[in-house]
Amino acid sequence: MFVVAWIKQIFDSLLPMDEQCVLCDDFAILKKYSLCERCCGKLEVVPFNLTTEETYFESLMACYFYNNMAKSFILKHKDGHNRYLSLILGQILADKVDSVEIEIDVVTAIPSTRSAYLKRGVNHAADIAKAAARLLSVPYQESLVRIDSENKAQKSLTRQQRFKYAMSALASIHTFEKNQRVLVVDDVLTTGATLRGASLALKQGSPNCKFYGIAVFYTPFVKKI
Ligand SMILES: [Zn+2]
Repeated sequence: MFVVAWIKQIFDSLLPMDEQCVLCDDFAILKKYSLCERCCGKLEVVPFNLTTEETYFESLMACYFYNNMAKSFILKHKDGHNRYLSLILGQILADKVDSVEIEIDVVTAIPSTRSAYLKRGVNHAADIAKAAARLLSVPYQESLVRIDSENKAQKSLTRQQRFKYAMSALASIHTFEKNQRVLVVDDVLTTGATLRGASLALKQGSPNCKFYGIAVFYTPFVKKI
């Protein structure tokens, strides 16, 4: 017995179990999504689907609430050019799709605003969507383009103005094959205005397809069902 414990001790020292948490950078035994137990504990599951009223989605889903932890996650993803986090966020989406047992044929994403793209040089929602598509073993397809010229900061608009604005901000640039089931990805769902505008543009471009909206994080502006 003593020899076994001794060998185990040597192996443990050679193969430390601690890894770095992708969010707080602490070394710890990681629990889920490459997060330590403390960070993982701060993920707050959204236990309901959101209303699809005034959208062209079959369903609208969000995975976790946009709390302080989610905010640091998104900021680290966007400003830190940390593309490894795209894989983690993509995994969160793929897990959600698996859990609700929706069959998906293709994944697409909301395009960045022009200013965000110029600032960061990356479309973060597309990166997350590509990771989710790989995990779901379906293709990723770019399908939307921003056609808004004024590039208004949505933060300064009222909810009603945001919706009106979003309905003319995006256009479809791809026609999906008939009857395809398309997952439409965004990182954070605030009022739902952007996803709503996307659903309209996509349905106009591909009226015979089914669209499912999904965001990793959700701020509770959008009504639950
Ligand atoms: Zn952590």
